[in-house]
Amino acid sequence: MWDCEINRMTLSDVPHIKIKNNFQKRDEQYSDILKPEIIKEICVKATGCSEYTVNWDNDGYNKGRLVKIEYKKEIIYISLSENDKIEGRNSSMQSFPSALLEFYADKNTKKRICYYFLKHEGNAATSYHMLSYRIMKTIGVEFLNSIKEIAEEQISKSGKPLKEKKRSVIIETIDDEIYPIDSIDDMIQNKDSIKGDKDASNNSTYITTNENDDVEISVKVYGASKYESVLLADAASKILDKRPFLQKLFKTKKIILYEIVEKDLKKLPVKGREYLESIKNIEIISTNRTLDKKEYKPVYPDCMRNYRFNHALGIRFGAKKCELCNQKDPKQIQDAHIWGVAELRKRNDLTEDEKCELANNGENGFRLCKKHHRWFDNKDIKLTETGEIKIRTYRNNTINNVNTNSKINNKILTPQFIANLRERNKLLPPDKDYVGL
Ligand SMILES: [Zn+2]
Repeated sequence: MWDCEINRMTLSDVPHIKIKNNFQKRDEQYSDILKPEIIKEICVKATGCSEYTVNWDNDGYNKGRLVKIEYKKEIIYISLSENDKIEGRNSSMQSFPSALLEFYADKNTKKRICYYFLKHEGNAATSYHMLSYRIMKTIGVEFLNSIKEIAEEQISKSGKPLKEKKRSVIIETIDDEIYPIDSIDDMIQNKDSIKGDKDASNNSTYITTNENDDVEISVKVYGASKYESVLLADAASKILDKRPFLQKLFKTKKIILYEIVEKDLKKLPVKGREYLESIKNIEIISTNRTLDKKEYKPVYPDCMRNYRFNHALGIRFGAKKCELCNQKDPKQIQDAHIWGVAELRKRNDLTEDEKCELANNGENGFRLCKKHHRWFDNKDIKLTETGEIKIRTYRNNTINNVNTNSKINNKILTPQFIANLRERNKLLPPDKDYVGL
């Protein structure tokens, strides 16, 4: 009995490190990369101890680039960054969610989740990366080392000096440091600000709030975005949890996650979905093409929400804004079709699939405030192919009163958008009935 106790004590006195040694798709092993000095540093940063035992497990492969440390009855999960060339959507960002989900599944109540930057090539501090780190921090991830130090070292070691501009961009971005996101609005704005970032160019997750002030996350469930959405939803739920007690009591908010399922593609990864389903304030709504056809109503598009169209506009435009008056209150903003669904429906020359495609296409729509949406659908507002906004003569005063812009943003005017606009305009009253603003 006494011996047992001592044994247990001795074992737990020194951190015990467990690492699955095999990569899923590479010949090299983690033991080739994680030299003793690196393991020691990870151990010191995570536990304060420089002594440790380590066990390399050659069964299966390492999911989540994960190092686990058991120490004083606590279990520490450490996910590692990529160690070679870091590019846009690198695998370290994609493998972190696996580490997180394994961490959540661990029944041990004393546990922590951490992240460690290995030395790497390339820029792991683009605005896309920095936002990912902030989302991780919001979830509760501890960063064991500073990416800034690694970047400084990497820049000074690279021999040929980086162009000053690029250098200062890298370092300045990191200077912002990694701090948690404190509100849903902050999250929406940040997500929106990286929309044009080339690393986020195939970004297919977007986040917004709806009329009830609930958080909506819309995601196409392929590639990296399916994992990103798990992190976003988790972070959003943590942000709502951290609100002051009274706010929570009087304003219960929920998170609605729309899975936009494509043909032949599966839903969110099972473990991620299971975890999200276990969170009280998250609701997952799955929408596929068949469902969309049901939603495909020959009336006004907002009678029946069309999630797929909503998602397409979210990806194209980012944060909600009326394109005619710049109003930004998400509660006032609606999705508007250019070539209306009711009109599409009447066309015999288009197949059902083509109609469905057009009804869900981000280039067949934009966002409008409720007022402008009503006027737009009533044909009181006309857009010309050069983006000029015209209004029905008899409506001139009313519409002018709400600060209607005289032109829409040129960026919206893609060839596809203009083609849809041409179809819409064929159905409007003659041009002489409208005046410019
Ligand atoms: Zn408006």
